Parts: sequence; C-alpha cells; structure tokens
Amino acid sequence: MKLKYINDINPATGKIFAKIKCSTKKEIDDAVLKAKTAQKKWSSLTLAQRSKMLNACANDFIKQKEKIGKIITDEMGKLYKSAVGETFSTAYGIRETIEQAKTALKTEKFYEENLITELHRTPIGVCAVITPWNFPVSMPESLLSPALLAGNTVVFKPSEMVPLTGKAIYDIFKKHLPHGVINLVQGADEVGDYLIHNNIDMIAFVGSQAVGRKIMKTAGDKLKRIVLELGGKDPMIVLDDADLQKAANYAVNGSLRNTGQVCVSVERIYVHQKAADKFTTLVANGVKNFKYGNGYDKEVQMGPLVSKKQRANVISQVKDAVKNGAKLITGGKMPRNTKGFFMEPALVTNLNGKHRLMREETFGPVVAIQKVKSADEAVDLANNSPFGLGATVWTKNKKKGLEIAKKIESGMIGVNQGIGGVSGTPWVGIKQSGFGFIGSIEGIRQFTVPRKISYKK
Ligand code: NAD
Repeated sequence: MKLKYINDINPATGKIFAKIKCSTKKEIDDAVLKAKTAQKKWSSLTLAQRSKMLNACANDFIKQKEKIGKIITDEMGKLYKSAVGETFSTAYGIRETIEQAKTALKTEKFYEENLITELHRTPIGVCAVITPWNFPVSMPESLLSPALLAGNTVVFKPSEMVPLTGKAIYDIFKKHLPHGVINLVQGADEVGDYLIHNNIDMIAFVGSQAVGRKIMKTAGDKLKRIVLELGGKDPMIVLDDADLQKAANYAVNGSLRNTGQVCVSVERIYVHQKAADKFTTLVANGVKNFKYGNGYDKEVQMGPLVSKKQRANVISQVKDAVKNGAKLITGGKMPRNTKGFFMEPALVTNLNGKHRLMREETFGPVVAIQKVKSADEAVDLANNSPFGLGATVWTKNKKKGLEIAKKIESGMIGVNQGIGGVSGTPWVGIKQSGFGFIGSIEGIRQFTVPRKISYKK
C-alpha cells in the first residue's frame, strides 16, 4: 500500500492531531481469514443469542456517547451536540434492527396439498462494510447491525477521515462479540479496493456514486452480493401556494445542517416564479443568521467542512455558477482569520440546469434556488438527474402535493416535511443513488440469501 499512515486532521484547526497506521495487505488477508473462520459458529447461534450481544453494544453506545461525540467533532467537525446525539441514537438503531430481525429472519413455511417448503433466510458469509465520514457512527451501524444479526461476520473499513471513530465503534462490538466476528481495517481507497477483491462474500457500502460504481464492477466479476447506498442531489419543490416561512426554514436547515454534508441535503430548490421573491427573501434572512464556527461552541449551527478538498469543491461549484450568470446573494467565502476549513453559508439564485451547482452533488453549505413557471416544469427538472435519493414538495394543497410526490423519481419523498418517515420503513435511493436498501425488514433480508427445503407431509 502506498499510504502508510492516515493523518487525522481536525477540520476546525487544520492541524494533524493523530496518525493512524493503515492496514497492510497481510493484515487485510488476516482480517478476512479471521472473519471466515468465525462465521460458521456465529451463524449457528440463535438470533436471540446474537441479539443479546448486540443489545449490550447498544448500551455501550449510550454509555460512551460523550467520549465518541468528542472524537467525531475532533475528526470531522460536526457540532458536538449532534455528534453526541448521533452516538446516542445509534443505540436505538441497533435495538430497532433487533426487533425487525425477529420477523425478517424467521423461517417461513409454505403448504401445497401434501407438500411443505421451508424458507430459511441464511447468512451470506463474510461481509465487507465500507462507510463514509459524514455520519460516522450511524452509517456504520446501519450496515453492521443487519449484517451481524443475520449471521454474517464482518470486516469493517471506516472512512479514512474518521479512523478513530471507526476504532471506537469496533472496540464496542469487539468487546461483546466472539473473537473474529468483527474485524477492523484502516486506510483509504487502496485498502478498500484490496478488501473488496479479497475472499469476501458480500460488500455493504455507503458512500459516493463514483466509488459505488467501482464496487459494483468488482462485485460483478465474482458475482458477490452488494448493497450500495450512494449520493444524492435532492430537489425541493416549492409551489406558489406553499407556507413560505415553513418552506424557507426547511430550505435553510435542510441545505446547511451538518455543513451541508448530508446525503439527503436539500441540494437544489425549484420555486414557482410567483413565490420566488418572497421565498428568497425569507431564505436569505435564515442563511445570513446561520452561525458557523467550532463545533464545541454552543451558539454555532454548523461546523467546518470535513477537509480542504471538500471545501475547494463546494467553492468551485459556487464560482462556476456565478461565472455563468447566477447570483450570489450572500456568503460563499472562506474566512481569513482561521486555518480551519470553514466557509460562509451561501445562497445562490438565478440558477439553471447548466450550472454544476444544480447537477453535481455539492455536499456543502449552499442553498441553490432556480425559478420555475409551473409544477410540471419543477417535476421535469427534479427528475432530470441520475440521482434519486430524497425529495420534498411544499404546497398547502395536500392532494396536489401527493400527486406531485408520486411523479418524482426518488426513493424517499416528503410532502410539507422532510424525507424521514415512520420508523421501520426502508432507507432507499433509486436510479443511481443506490442498489438495494437498508433499514427495514426487507433491508435486513438483503444480508441473507433465501434457501428452501421441501418435503412431503
Ligand atoms: P467515498 O465514496 O469517497 O468513500 C466512502 C468509503 O469508500 C470510504 O471508506 C473510502 O475510503 C472508501 N473507498 C474509496 N475508494 C474506494 C475503492 N476504490 N474501493 C473500496 N472502497 C473505497 O464517500 P465519502 O466522501 O466518504 O462520503 C460522502 C458520500 O457518501 C456522498 O456522496 C454522500 O451522499 C454519500 N452518503 C450516502 C448515504 C446514503 O444513505 N445514501 C449516507 C451517507 C453518505
């Protein structure tokens, strides 16, 4: 491997605060071998036995929420209170998956005259779990819990931006699970690539579309199972009869929370021309008052971007838009008095489909607004994208909102609210935002293969 160490940089200061050794090829081979060896015994345990161990992990996430919260804020800049909240709610994620697994993994019996078929949901084997940095605890959990409960063993590779958060997650699972059931490898793309070419049976991945594509190619060669949760370019449609204050609040928070580094951020807004001026004024007020700074500061609403590179990409999209006729209403600059990777939250208007800001995933603190003449035009523009993760529609006419929602090509759509729905329903991207899905009974089953055994009465 070319990269021997990860420099763990605090994005609020720009300073390296830890150096983490990358796994060697031999260490990755060993991790896969350990997972292979442990899998038979792990899968022979009952679901109740596995669930008990995972429940103990959930308790530890609650106990360690401040400790892990601090690691997250230091590594990727998230607000400390959000980092603690994410760690705390991870425990609920584990417990919810434990409950759903009871239905998802139950053996079903089918009858036809004197014939009986048992349908067993069997584990796939060794699962490589590869995750991003933006929700550094909840994303790994969303793949680790279903993989492990279903009876698979795991080789886990956290993002190179959050290696210590990854290690903290691994330490909790390792403490409560038998030897070899979970294994950790550290590193960046080379380590991930070496891992997916190894003797594993499944790849569960959350990350960008670009890497998802590479993973699918590699998996194709050996017909390995995959679950991919990828990037988005979520549209928000605001009609002229919407509650504009409510929509503006959602636009600001949805575009800027976690410094815009959310797969289901509001990435592009299509507002009806009749409502555009008032809506833009309300959004501008929100953006101008949105406080950024160090994630430990209680007043602050967003921290720095995760890296210099990430910030440069966001700023280049804003500059490209302005150069090509868009209007920067506020923000978009780098503060000079700090070495941290901060950026003023930005509002850009007069946009159109040619701007990168309306086509590429931005993943930064930018509210991007385009005027439209009708709801039909908004839907056409929303659907004119390879992405299909989330979307929202804002109108006081609920019936019309629901009709529009059905026409939008996204996996998760909210009408006058965010994309989160009732717990237990899937987390799903369609088109090129995902392949397979997680977070539901069907989601858990994707970490298994059905096997049928038939016999006569
Ligand atoms: P990324 O794709 O750059 O990296 C994700 C992981 O893949 C990291 O662990 C990385 O080291 C690893 N990796 C990189 N190259 C690899 C390769 N060739 N083979 C194997 N592994 C490789 O993504 P990121 O920057 O960490 O995260 C941001 C992206 O994740 C955004 O696109 C965002 O939308 C997406 N995301 C999606 C969801 C969702 O639920 N759909 C949730 C969170 C983040």
